[in-house]
Amino acid sequence: MTNKPHKVIPLADIRYASRVPPIPAQLSAPTGLLSDTLGRPLRDLRISVTDRCNFRCSYCMPKEFFDKDYAYLPHNSLLSFEEIARLARIFVAHGVEKIRLTGGEPLLRKNIESLIEMLARLQTTAGKPLDITLTTNGSLLAKKAQSLKDAGLQRVTVSLDGLDDAIFRSMNDVDFPVADVLEGIDVASQVGLAPIKVNMVVKRGTNDAEIVPMARHFRHSGAVLRFIEYMDVGASNGWRMDEVMPSRQVIERLNAEFPVIAIDPNYLGETAGRWRYADGAGEIGVISSVTQAFCSDCNRARLSTEGKLFLCLFATNGHDFRALLRGDCSDEQIAAAVGQVWQGRGARYSELRAALPADSSPADGTLKRVEMSYIGG
Ligand code: SAM
Ligand code: SF4
Ligand code: SF4
Repeated sequence: MTNKPHKVIPLADIRYASRVPPIPAQLSAPTGLLSDTLGRPLRDLRISVTDRCNFRCSYCMPKEFFDKDYAYLPHNSLLSFEEIARLARIFVAHGVEKIRLTGGEPLLRKNIESLIEMLARLQTTAGKPLDITLTTNGSLLAKKAQSLKDAGLQRVTVSLDGLDDAIFRSMNDVDFPVADVLEGIDVASQVGLAPIKVNMVVKRGTNDAEIVPMARHFRHSGAVLRFIEYMDVGASNGWRMDEVMPSRQVIERLNAEFPVIAIDPNYLGETAGRWRYADGAGEIGVISSVTQAFCSDCNRARLSTEGKLFLCLFATNGHDFRALLRGDCSDEQIAAAVGQVWQGRGARYSELRAALPADSSPADGTLKRVEMSYIGG
């Protein structure tokens, strides 16, 4: 017997749990005013364009599970750019104002620029340009920033978990140097993919010593550094509550070094709590998904790489829109199905978890939650 981590049933089989959304008998055109069972509108669509990544962050794609035997999606399972753009148009008609491309690592998807060009042509129901952004690990950003900007991308969010090279290399677990990500951030800023957001997942005991150095580095830079609580998303990262550093403590630690003041959210449903440095050095954010549930304003839908719509980051089931796209359905039929699915949404995982003892989880124990790399952050 070896002590190798037990490999659970292949994730590929479980994560695809989904149903084909029924087409309502009565087709009504989108009004942009959809709301779910808790009165939440649909405003934000996150689209995962690949389930692959060149990093192996332990909190997201730990090496033991995402190894050489891992079954990534075959190419014909992925939504094509035309399919993504068609769905995006329908979602925008339903009120979506912001699209975030994510993954896996979205810059690994070939010709991602052509998808951005297609999306950049869409307008919100109010006739405004769509807010298009992308979350990346930054490894290919220096090379791609200019072509992304030229294609119509407005901003980027770059994930970076520390400035200490040894800590960063060990967290990405592929020995990727911090200097290359910093160069990516610089080039993105030079070409105008701004304001840049930098996401740092804080794991207590792993990189919490990087909080203050990261703040020091990004003060006065125009970039907004955001500290994310380590979440119990997916089923492979071995999450433990004692490794979560509550945002409140992050703010206390920062405040001791650089005094900060809370500021109002930009809009209802914003994920990050906003703070600014009292000396005017810029803004920071905290995303407290574990300790402070923000489900009541959650207006986000997530489209997986193969076209399954998830109504919550912690969902166990998706709605298979690829089946409708490839099944000869009209735009009107698909739009009506999207409307019906959103109107039936009642998801509020983080709020439910907050009501339970620490370390427990309200997810259905018989189904595994989808992995972050599949559904996108
Ligand atoms: N590969 C890209 C990246 O890392 O930016 C995009 C996809 S990644 C899944 C999106 C975001 O999710 C990243 O900022 C990452 O740090 C965050 N993330 C992944 N797993 C997480 C976890 N268990 N808890 C909190 N954030 C997590
Ligand atoms: Fe890759 Fe992003 Fe997940 Fe890290 S967080 S493993 S970079 S998808
Ligand atoms: Fe939204 Fe689900 Fe996160 Fe709550 S737990 S904020 S419903 S994604």
